[in-house]
Amino acid sequence: MSTCEDYTFVCPECSQSITVNASMREALVENGCVICGASVNRNAFDTACDG
Ligand SMILES: [Zn+2]
Repeated sequence: MSTCEDYTFVCPECSQSITVNASMREALVENGCVICGASVNRNAFDTACDG
């Protein structure tokens, strides 16, 4: 089960994988990785959408 409203974030620094929603994605882009603090951009996110 997956929706197009969720994103899979994979940190380029610590490789932590987290499923987030759109607002959480924005927060991560603004604040950096919650685990290691590395700056991230939207390329670090994949949609959970199968299409
Ligand atoms: Zn990280």
